[in-house]
Amino acid sequence: MAKEITPPQLLRGMKDILPTDQPYWWKIFDLLRVTARDYGFERIETPILEATSLFTRSVGDLTDIVQKEMYSFTDKSNDNVTLRPEGTAGVVRSYIEHGMLNLPQPVKLWYFMPFFRHDRPQAGRYRQFWQFGFEVLGAPQPVIDAQLILAARSIYRGLGLDTTVQINSIGDPASRTQYIKALQTFFKTKKSELTDEHKLLLQKNPLRLLDSKDAVIQDLLTDAPQIVDYLDEASRAHFVQVLEYLDDLEVAYVLNPRLVRGLDYYNRTVFEVWPTGDEGAQSSLGGGGRYDSLVETLGGRPTPAAGFAGGIERIIMRMKEQQLPPAPLDRPEIYLAQLGEPARKKMLRLFEALRDVDVRVAESLTKDGLKQQLEVANRLGAHYTLIIGQKELMDDTILIRDMENGIQEIIDYKKAVAEVKKRLEKNRASGTTPVTGMVQPERLERYQAAVPDDTAEEPQVNQVGDHDE
Ligand code: AMP
Repeated sequence: MAKEITPPQLLRGMKDILPTDQPYWWKIFDLLRVTARDYGFERIETPILEATSLFTRSVGDLTDIVQKEMYSFTDKSNDNVTLRPEGTAGVVRSYIEHGMLNLPQPVKLWYFMPFFRHDRPQAGRYRQFWQFGFEVLGAPQPVIDAQLILAARSIYRGLGLDTTVQINSIGDPASRTQYIKALQTFFKTKKSELTDEHKLLLQKNPLRLLDSKDAVIQDLLTDAPQIVDYLDEASRAHFVQVLEYLDDLEVAYVLNPRLVRGLDYYNRTVFEVWPTGDEGAQSSLGGGGRYDSLVETLGGRPTPAAGFAGGIERIIMRMKEQQLPPAPLDRPEIYLAQLGEPARKKMLRLFEALRDVDVRVAESLTKDGLKQQLEVANRLGAHYTLIIGQKELMDDTILIRDMENGIQEIIDYKKAVAEVKKRLEKNRASGTTPVTGMVQPERLERYQAAVPDDTAEEPQVNQVGDHDE
């Protein structure tokens, strides 16, 4: 008996991005591309694999990402490498490595890349996930922080998502050290209420207690010292200016004293974008802030910088929850249908000829049944179907069927390209065909419907020659 083969499966926390989801991805990517262009960002792509030390030095040894979540291994050359868990470190490495310090500053870069974190998978949390990011290197001014928030807001708004900007300042390292001391002193008086894990956090990374979901900690935090009261003068002035810009443009934000962001490289402004009505960092759609010392930490000249990254899967999840439309599908103007092998040859040629003159054309050269082919044409939303049946084959003609009203005419095969062009141009001029031929979102469902049902009723194809199916 044949041995049973177990089909391979996705790794836990991984996800295929199937064709049905692609319209969401196109929509987001297109919006990002245009937004990045408008705000003066240039695209960068860094390798998925980097030296592990890049992340331990930048993200920080004691952070959850480095301690628990990195896909790190020793490769065949005995190098310690890591699948990148975030984007800023790689971008900064590249900035230093390619001497971008010598370009006119600020250097504005954006990315759209996959990241890896060995986290506990749950809704909206994957082990491979995508982020877009905007980074501005070489500018200390608070206007940069404000404009990053504006750019991020414009992306979420452009997709129709209801979001709230949460903002805080965590000051400079010196003021943060003082605040951490104050926090530790405060929690020491509450030790009896802390678990061992909390006590460890209090010792190693006390700021993490601020975004703890634990109800006891949440309760205790009501009376805890707040970081804004510990800001150094320069950080306070910087933060006030950021807020003034936002006020000036009437950008709504929530001052959130507990927002600290998990990574070591942040200083001063930190912010996150949360879905409105579902406040909680667990469902955060993106986050960012200043990282004025990161370039220097990684061996570059002191270079103030700030950035923002948003999670694509989270955005798509929210879009679906809010029933926001993905990108409309590309609709073919012309669909080619044929009966039999000689007709197929003619259609193979006609397909190329129509593409050569920029006609959006679709085919199903592997199919034989006309009924089936017309169903596909309908499903795709083609404006016209060109049909070669047995009679058309003999006469060297082609049948052109208007899919909107079912009217059919016979044209000369040799003149088909010119005739199709003429009709499409006429329709475009009179506005009866959308210029880009896009299927409206409500057709998406039809497009995504299962394989055509062969038992469906025969469509009316009156003038096709004596074809049999
Ligand atoms: P972070 O810098 O960790 O706050 O990540 C920025 C954004 O990326 C988050 O707000 C999420 O939208 C998204 N994100 C982070 N981790 C994951 C993950 N494991 N799976 C999916 N999205 C994520």
